[in-house]
Amino acid sequence: MDRGDDAGWADWFLASGALALARILTEYGRVTWGECASPTCSTLYLGIGPGSARRYCSAACASRARVADHRRRKALG
Ligand SMILES: [Zn+2]
Repeated sequence: MDRGDDAGWADWFLASGALALARILTEYGRVTWGECASPTCSTLYLGIGPGSARRYCSAACASRARVADHRRRKALG
């Protein structure tokens, strides 16, 4: 396992499910995973290692949500 392949991880995650997830949690100790927090996206993400605390599947979703939030606050005054 020497390739950093995020797409491979996503496929693997969907195929293997919770049992494998439990094994990974044990193996790596620190895994961030879940469903993208963007209201227009339901992609599952998987992040491993320090500094992987995240709520979105990608930087694109994170910035889109940030912009939407900013617009919403501006509209409210
Ligand atoms: Zn997303």
